[in-house]
Order: sequence, then C-alpha cells, then structure tokens
Amino acid sequence: MSNTITSSIGAAPVELKETRLDIPFTVVNLTTTVLACVLPFYFYSRSAIAAFLAFYMVTSLGLTLGYHRLFAHRSFEVPRWLAYVIASCGYLAIQRGPIFWVAMHRLHHRYSDAPGRDPHTPREGLWHVHFGWNQRRRRDVWDKEIYRKWTPELVHDKFYQFLDDERLDYAACLGLLAGSFAVGGVVGGLGGAPFRFDWYNATCFLVWVGLLNRVALLHAFGFINSVCHRWGTRPFKTPGTDGSVNNVLVSLVIHGEGWHNNHHAHPHSARHGLRWYQWDPAWYSIRVLQALGLARNVYVPSPEAVRKASLSGGGKV
Ligand SMILES: [Zn+2]
Ligand SMILES: [Zn+2]
Repeated sequence: MSNTITSSIGAAPVELKETRLDIPFTVVNLTTTVLACVLPFYFYSRSAIAAFLAFYMVTSLGLTLGYHRLFAHRSFEVPRWLAYVIASCGYLAIQRGPIFWVAMHRLHHRYSDAPGRDPHTPREGLWHVHFGWNQRRRRDVWDKEIYRKWTPELVHDKFYQFLDDERLDYAACLGLLAGSFAVGGVVGGLGGAPFRFDWYNATCFLVWVGLLNRVALLHAFGFINSVCHRWGTRPFKTPGTDGSVNNVLVSLVIHGEGWHNNHHAHPHSARHGLRWYQWDPAWYSIRVLQALGLARNVYVPSPEAVRKASLSGGGKV
C-alpha cells in the first residue's frame, strides 16, 4: 500500500510513503539479542573476554567520541586520516555508517521528544525508543535522499558514502563473525606444539567479540535514547519538548553519554560530564588526543555559561 503523506523534514516538502517493517533487520536484531543473552554462559575463555573488553572500548569510543561528539556535534577537529580511523572504529559496532547515524542524531536534537518528528522518543513507547524505531522505518526518516540532507559536510566524502551502503552492514557483520572465529582459533592454538586450531576458543571469540559486542552496544545506545529521556535528573531546563535527563548508570556503561541533559543543554560541548565528579571517559580520551596534538578547536562551555544555564533549570523528574 502506498499511502503517501507530506513532510517538511529536509530542505523542501517531499512526497513520502508510509512506514515499513524491515523484516531481515528485525530478524537479525532479535535473533542475535537472544543468542547473546544465552551463549556467553556456555562459551567463554579468558582471552575471549579480554578481546571483548578491548573491542568494546574501540567500537564504543568510535561511536561516542567519534560518531557523536566529533561528527554529529563537531565538538573538536582531528586530521582527516584520524577521522577515517575513528569512523571505522565506530562502524565496527554495526550501527550504520556516520552519514545515517549523524542524520538521525541531528533529527533527534532538532525535534527532541516531539512524537512523529524525533526518530526515537520514549513518548512513542519504550519498545519504539529502545528498539522499534530501528525496525519500523518511517520513510521521512529512513529514505537516503532525505536523511542525507542533514549531513552536508559528510555526504560528498567517498569513504563515508561507502560506509552508508546498508548492504555493507550485512557483509561487515558476517566478516566480523568469521574474523573473530578465526582469530580466536589461532589465539587458542598458540603455544601448542605442533600448532592446532582451537575450535572451542574460536567459538568463544565468535560469541563474545562477533556477537555480544554488537548486541551490547545496540542496547547501550537504546538505553541512552530511552532511559536518558525518562529517568534521571534535569539540572538544566532545555527548550521545546525536550525531556532529556542525566543518568549516572548509563554514563558508567557507555563512556559518559548518560549526562544527557547536560548534553542537550550544551550540545556543542566535547565534555558531557560538566562537573569534576561526572565520569566521562569519552571526554578524557578527547583530552588525550588534544595532549598528543591530534585534536584541536575542542569546545567546552565556560563555567559562567554553565552556571547561567543551570540557574534556569533544575529538579528531579
Ligand atoms: Zn537525547
Ligand atoms: Zn547529541
């Protein structure tokens, strides 16, 4: 059925088709989530858990420091080669390429918590915000010709265009599973004479690195979208319909991204944990890049700007 509607998202009004359910994507996400909840209890090894922790750090910083603070909010600048490295680290989380991710995030900030406009708001239900918006695709949000208008500085770059091809996501997903299996087998077989491929450790790596890492990050970002617009504190009053909150538990899991009300009040800031006690590893990593001379024009609001903004807000929700 092609029940068309009109939307003004993007530069000009466009003819749109209704929402569609992405069946293959939904099947992959549901199946991998269930498997990731069960298999790690049956297949585990010290090297697989260590590799998972390392890969989680690389891919989650690629998303938080890279996709979010570098690309979506341009909170700091890095050399182009490093931007490509950071984009590749984020891409390995298999949450689409930076063009799509940044477009969705800019839409979220532009129409924060406005039902029907914000791609993911808990005001359309917890299932929708945590998971469903990914599977049930509104044409006005998911159409490539439309969402690319939100990323004018990325859209002409061949590398980012390459990462924006959704077919590549499935190939990358299969490549990660195969690659983690191979590495796990080799790592497990090291030290033995003669060398023997370790099939059990290969399976452990496949489960922890190939499967669990993506699922963990998928839901960690689901928690940012759901929990951090619902349960927490609001030190800053933010404009419009925005209901963002700070949540310390989400910050602990995903590198300081839980200081979400701070972030919506100061979206351009590279630092989300604006107080000394607000744990923000993505910010500490940006400071390391800055100390190495690799990050410049790092934006952080002045203490005076933060104090003024906090005077107008407040209270728990
Ligand atoms: Zn938000
Ligand atoms: Zn943001």
